[in-house]
Amino acid sequence: VIVRSTLTFQPVLDRIADEIAQTPTRGRPADYIPALAACDPARFGMAVAELDGTVYGVGDWRQPFSAQSITKVFTLALDLAREADELWEHVGREPSGNPFNSLVQLEYENGIPRNPFINAGALVVTDRLHTRTGDAAGTLLDFLRTESGNDRLAIDEDVAASEAAHGDRNAALGHFMASYGNIDNPVPVLLDAYFRQCSVAASCADLALATGFLARHGIRSDGSRLLTQRQAKQVNAVMLTCGTYDAAGEFAYRVGLPGKSGVGGGVIAVVPGRCTLCAWSPGLDEQGNSVAGVAALDRFTTLTGLSVF
Ligand code: GLU
Repeated sequence: VIVRSTLTFQPVLDRIADEIAQTPTRGRPADYIPALAACDPARFGMAVAELDGTVYGVGDWRQPFSAQSITKVFTLALDLAREADELWEHVGREPSGNPFNSLVQLEYENGIPRNPFINAGALVVTDRLHTRTGDAAGTLLDFLRTESGNDRLAIDEDVAASEAAHGDRNAALGHFMASYGNIDNPVPVLLDAYFRQCSVAASCADLALATGFLARHGIRSDGSRLLTQRQAKQVNAVMLTCGTYDAAGEFAYRVGLPGKSGVGGGVIAVVPGRCTLCAWSPGLDEQGNSVAGVAALDRFTTLTGLSVF
């Protein structure tokens, strides 16, 4: 990993950070667990990683935060790499138009979740990855450490315990889908893997680097292939249409990139063939997307002209 702070993207990042610093409205941190509620909404960081691993950053770009739903992109890719299209018999790929933890569509769609990025879909993906690897969260952690070049990247055990203590909704989703035969592992085993996955702590730099394979059309940082070109295209498409809760239309309208947000306040985005981005600020809007994070990505694609549109 080459870290430079003075070339190409740096002036754009500095300008965005200045603009964000002058914006008073930052939303509210997620409050469903104490560890997230305690985050300071004034924190802001952003990183851009080029295809060769060169990283630019500004603000709190090296500060680890709770990756949460951003990890759903990586478990999806890691599972697709193993079982290919069979996955799509167990999870759909259409936007849900419902909150991320909704149960309502599952009943009339026979326990098949709408897409891999709502919680129900992510549980199915993690379940299948866990069956194939014996350790979904460990497989994810290995991947993130290798791609980011950061061996200290880790699961925050306090956050994981807190997720488990407040996990009734995810438990309900798991059991409900198990009743349709769409979950393989015992639900408590799956929930443990999923809560650990959500509790990965990583920085903007780590996550921008780890997302690089999606800008490199499926190629990992060491030059080996994780996904076929077609699969990388598909994952980017699902991010664009389903990656930012029930505000994916608004995110496409403002940012114009495949993206995935998490309730920890992080947002990753992909400029295929060019670079990857991660912005972080813990204050969320009504849909659960980082207010300053999305604003920063909006400014980045506007200032650079780098979007898929
Ligand atoms: N651990 C959270 C949950 O499953 C993740 C939510 C998110 O980032 O969207 O409820």
